[in-house]
Amino acid sequence: MSTIVLHVNEDSGSGSWASSPGNRKSMQGNRSRDTKPELAVRSAVHRRGIRFRVSARPQPELPRTADLVLRKSRIAVFVDGCYWHGCPEHHTQPVTNSEYWADKIARNIQRDAETTDYLRKTGWTVLRFWEHEDPESVADRVQESVLAAVSRTERVEATASTSPPHAVQGGDPSSQRRVAKP
Ligand SMILES: [Zn+2]
Repeated sequence: MSTIVLHVNEDSGSGSWASSPGNRKSMQGNRSRDTKPELAVRSAVHRRGIRFRVSARPQPELPRTADLVLRKSRIAVFVDGCYWHGCPEHHTQPVTNSEYWADKIARNIQRDAETTDYLRKTGWTVLRFWEHEDPESVADRVQESVLAAVSRTERVEATASTSPPHAVQGGDPSSQRRVAKP
């Protein structure tokens, strides 16, 4: 799994959600983006031959990072932390300073919605998952979106030229790899 790491740290100064979720944990040396569920999702997606950038901005003018960015397919994947993004199953009210934290989480949720909205308007497919979801099924859904994006592109190409569409299934690793580079 060591080949995954395209560790782009271009958003370190944004001060957005990347720095807010799990501040205490990040004090122990890991950024919140490198949580275990995120890593598991990255590996599972990577194993399907899909290449992506990690913690990158889908739209440069929007200071929000997606956990996985598939530029060619225009797919942005977010793995939202259950606590900080208000997962209905796992979010619990903290006992102390509950108002402060509730407000913070409410703002995160609102920001998530704004981000999704903006990216969809700019032509992105936005996939949001909870960190508690099974990484394999998350990866399956990412793969479905990639295949859908490929067939969309091919339909456009088919109308633009008479050349037959090439095979979609499984993708072409060499062309996928190009996507991974900036
Ligand atoms: Zn959850």
